[in-house]
Amino acid sequence: MKQLFFLAPGDLAWDDVEAPVLEGPGEAIVKPLAVARCDLDAAIVGGEAPFRGRALHFLRNHLPERVGQKGLFKNAPFRGPYPLGHECVAEVLAVGSDVTSFAKGDRVVVPFQISCGACERCKRGLTASCTGVPPRSMYGFGALGGMRWGGMLCDAVRVPFAEAMLVAAPKGVPNALLASTGDNVVDGYRTVAEPLAKTPRAPVLVVGGLATSVGLYAVACARALGASEVVYHDVNRDRLELAEKLGAKVVEGPYRTQRGGYPITVDASATPAGLAAAMLSTEPGGTCTSVGIYYDERTPVPLRGAYGIGLTFVTGRVQARTELPHVLALLADQRLDITAATTLVARWDDAAEAMKHRGAKVVVSRD
Ligand SMILES: [Zn+2]
Ligand SMILES: [Zn+2]
Repeated sequence: MKQLFFLAPGDLAWDDVEAPVLEGPGEAIVKPLAVARCDLDAAIVGGEAPFRGRALHFLRNHLPERVGQKGLFKNAPFRGPYPLGHECVAEVLAVGSDVTSFAKGDRVVVPFQISCGACERCKRGLTASCTGVPPRSMYGFGALGGMRWGGMLCDAVRVPFAEAMLVAAPKGVPNALLASTGDNVVDGYRTVAEPLAKTPRAPVLVVGGLATSVGLYAVACARALGASEVVYHDVNRDRLELAEKLGAKVVEGPYRTQRGGYPITVDASATPAGLAAAMLSTEPGGTCTSVGIYYDERTPVPLRGAYGIGLTFVTGRVQARTELPHVLALLADQRLDITAATTLVARWDDAAEAMKHRGAKVVVSRD
């Protein structure tokens, strides 16, 4: 079958690989129908994420003060070639004999993280840290996530724990809207869902940036979950326009602390200034969640200011499988509208070019 590979920033190519087969009775083989580009894919393909050989480019853009420092990206995680794509809605092609909840022809969403559903961590909802598979097991991240899982821009994907991982796609919701739910949408959702359950109708501040669509999905989810006001702060005009379409009041300009204080704040900037703006805009007793990935262990964190405020700071990878049913229910009820976040829906055969698109969210669809 054809599989799209990431080779190096700006360089993608289709190659012929052997299609996966069922390797056990609890597995499924699915055919991706629509695949979305994750924010991290966009950064990797665009050369914005730490990538050996492109470290200088990243430094100049994001950490100019570190230019000239040696060895900063010695352990840069993303090196091609590897099969790209880890967010998809798919059709079940085959299931093993132990799989009873799904059958050939079913439409399903596949979370990007591999989780067994049976270990102690999975049972606690910590599906990002399943102990039934090697740490960080996930689709579409090459060696970092485990090469054997493959990517999703292909005709067949093996799901090792079908009952535990797959979630039925809600009827009537188009593939293009479901494509990103296995990762970026749930990532946006978790930044606001629990805090809004704790403090209903609270106003929310989202500081947007490099986790582009996650920040936008946080806006949409906050609106869907009844936030009294959603403010989106960013330095980028295109992202601000999208946030406004999704229902946010927007604040343009350099990242800075927003007056008034918000019980719920989100850092999707992945920049030290954005992180500081989100943390220091949090109201006493509030919750600040950061979805940005900070590659530099020495990223400054404004702990003195945070101490003065008194807040809960949350970071870490999303528990994709645990959150997924909640997001799909919101989409099924038409309470969550994420349409405006998608800036390009491309044909399947055009995936290699589409992945380089500069907008917030690309969906490649067979429709
Ligand atoms: Zn992702
Ligand atoms: Zn597990």
